[in-house]
Amino acid sequence: MPGRDVDLVVIGAGLSGCPFAAALRNKGWSGTIQILEAGRGPGGRSATRRRRDDPLWRLDHGTPTLSFQSEPSGPLRELMTSLEQRGVVRVDHDPVVGLNHHGAVVEPPDHPLLRGPRWRGIPTMATVVETLLSDGTNSVDACFGERIQTLSRVDERWVFPGGIRASGLVLSGTLLAHPRSLAMLGWRNVPLREAVPEGHDPVLDQALAWIAGLNASVRWNLMVEFAGMASDPLPRQIWLTPRAQQQFAVERIVLQRQPQGRLGLVIHGLDDGALITPETQPELMNVQEQRLLSLLPELLRPWPSLQRRVSSARSLGVMRWGAAQPLDEGMPKALQWCRQARVGFCGDWIAGSGFGMAEGALQSGLDLAELIAS
Ligand SMILES: Cc1cc2nc3c(=O)[nH]c(=O)nc-3n(C[C@H](O)[C@H](O)[C@H](O)COP(=O)(O)OP(=O)(O)OC[C@H]3O[C@@H](n4cnc5c(N)ncnc54)[C@H](O)[C@@H]3O)c2cc1C
Repeated sequence: MPGRDVDLVVIGAGLSGCPFAAALRNKGWSGTIQILEAGRGPGGRSATRRRRDDPLWRLDHGTPTLSFQSEPSGPLRELMTSLEQRGVVRVDHDPVVGLNHHGAVVEPPDHPLLRGPRWRGIPTMATVVETLLSDGTNSVDACFGERIQTLSRVDERWVFPGGIRASGLVLSGTLLAHPRSLAMLGWRNVPLREAVPEGHDPVLDQALAWIAGLNASVRWNLMVEFAGMASDPLPRQIWLTPRAQQQFAVERIVLQRQPQGRLGLVIHGLDDGALITPETQPELMNVQEQRLLSLLPELLRPWPSLQRRVSSARSLGVMRWGAAQPLDEGMPKALQWCRQARVGFCGDWIAGSGFGMAEGALQSGLDLAELIAS
């Protein structure tokens, strides 16, 4: 990365960071924007998994849909209409079923992610962020595979690897601002707190105190390949009822057809509270992989075509997803952009109402663009 000065660095190219950059551009904000993203491509928790050994394979290993509490309105409605008209998303009517603790198919549970309208990325979820990123492309640079571990400020400018200096910073996740990361990553202090001393920007002090109150949780998603599948109808999502979730520590199973008669399956494993550190993580991944694989015969019993193939199904490994859980009350708008330190926040954790979903991520990006452009 060449050394250079930019107006804004955005950390994270997910469903909040990408619409933020695109909306800022749409509003005529002409500063230079550099996105730094740890992943190999855009998407974050709405990314699509590819395989080096198999160019046709595409598996949505995080969220399978964009869920909304109710029909969107205002700028969010405009964004969804534009994506829909360009064929980037379609309304998701794919079948969702429930599975109870006896292993019987029932009505899907009443869950916030299933209550309102849903959209699905075409052909995969990654298309949504890829499109949003290209909407903001006019002088938005994106650099992938760049995980930021520390934050520092010199002469009022944020300094990044490769000599990038920025007058403003936007965090689209809480990793660099929340104490939860300290044990997980072996850090000694919250990087954002280390970079901006207490008292420099009282709004940032309030924002960091609010963020520290968020809980974090972890998901273990096991990806599995099934071969030789006929085209018999299968649900898109199998949601376990609350009692079944408790019994199996699994939230749901998501199915995605692949070319050549194959099927990708993602089993969404729930947090068991184990302490994750750089030392414990590899073993925890193994344990979760074996645990989730061993549950498949029982969970797939109502679908004989799948159950028959479980023994020949191939594990493609476990993905650990970490996320801040939004509080019931969202982050006050006044804390989303800290003018003195020139730090902004977006992400699904800002919207509040108790759960993280795509709607909150998209809305937070649009809101922050409004605050900065005004
Ligand atoms: C398993 C799972 C299932 C889900 N199911 C649903 C669903 O059914 N419906 C729904 O609406 N939502 C669902 N969600 C939630 C949805 O995926 C999220 O709300 C949304 O993707 C969040 O977008 P975001 O931009 O806020 O965060 P993220 O997608 O987490 O984006 C943040 C980005 O920042 C990057 N980043 C963070 N820190 C750094 C750093 N230090 N350096 C560089 N890069 C960094 C990350 O790599 C990431 O790409 C699900 C999520 C998961 C994990």
